[in-house]
Amino acid sequence: MAQKGFILCFLLPILLFFTTTIFAIPITQAYPGVFSPDPQIDVSSANIHGVIGYAINPFPANESDRNHYDSRKGKTIKYLIMHFTEENFTKTVNIFTNNSMVNPTSAHYVITQKEINNLDGGQVLRVVPENLRAWHAGTSAWGNDTSLNYVSIGIEHVNLGFNGNVSLPELNRTYFPYDPDEIKASGIISSGIVKQYGILPQHVIGHEDVQPTWKPDPGPLFPWGKLYKDYGVGAWLDDDEMTVDAIIKKYNPPRPFPQNLNRDVLLAMLYNYGWRSAGDDSRVILAFKKHFSANQYPAYCDEIIRLEDMFWAWALEAKYVTSTPTTVTPNTVPTVSGSTCADAVPDCLQYNLNECKNSIYKPMMCKYCKVSKF
Ligand SMILES: [Zn+2]
Repeated sequence: MAQKGFILCFLLPILLFFTTTIFAIPITQAYPGVFSPDPQIDVSSANIHGVIGYAINPFPANESDRNHYDSRKGKTIKYLIMHFTEENFTKTVNIFTNNSMVNPTSAHYVITQKEINNLDGGQVLRVVPENLRAWHAGTSAWGNDTSLNYVSIGIEHVNLGFNGNVSLPELNRTYFPYDPDEIKASGIISSGIVKQYGILPQHVIGHEDVQPTWKPDPGPLFPWGKLYKDYGVGAWLDDDEMTVDAIIKKYNPPRPFPQNLNRDVLLAMLYNYGWRSAGDDSRVILAFKKHFSANQYPAYCDEIIRLEDMFWAWALEAKYVTSTPTTVTPNTVPTVSGSTCADAVPDCLQYNLNECKNSIYKPMMCKYCKVSKF
């Protein structure tokens, strides 16, 4: 027994150290011709939920900020949050690993798209280990949960987002389609993640879902339906669930199908499903429309409520929400409980402090947002 203890305590860590060191290679060697200048990062080969990719090796202690992560503080992973980068792969990796605490941001995974240089789509790089908190969702809320970085895994999809100024109406933007190889890799690793952590379908959501006020990603072209149909990831409706009768027969809808276009009823269903807002309900409707219904078409990125919207919101509530209809009303600020000032600070620092001042997390923002309530 004593010998076994010696091996476990002393030899195994030494062996692991040498193994990771020996097999670590410069990132410039893993992705030839992609990085210039050399970001001085080492990676090692990793099996990421069935996709062979790379993982960034931990940085030395004096560069601990470069990985941009911290502790989950014992909280359980229950969300998978999708993003697009709005930057190319090189810039994204540089942003996620710069040795600075100014606007620190990161994600657990970055998945490449085919870029003009010799970078193929569908390559996966792990930046932050899953057991640690990456800083990708910022101030965020879904259902009764807030500060979702603690309880989520974040996947960044390399995609330039859209053409046009962010201040333009969504309809006036031209979105870039996703690389099929990138979506394939995303589907495979997402499938592994949701199975491993038992993540509910309605907890696989986009950044714009958990921060609808100002976040645009992953946008209306993100193929949520494909992820559901091909990889069993996230929430969607099956082909045989596209009628009111089918939904009534298959589920037990908590409310009758609303026959008319009614904004308040639509919002009540969306809030019951999980969306929260900072007071701008139109952004919640937009986030829903970009994610679901016929509204993955940019042409429907508007505030017009159509019958498809009423049906999808009603059907999703029937399919995925097991509790009775909530009494949450539009504009209700979710209660922030169990969070501390220290919890909120990294999220607050991650983005413009003015955003925090106006956010639903205002009571949490303490001295950094000059709110005295906390
Ligand atoms: Zn994002």
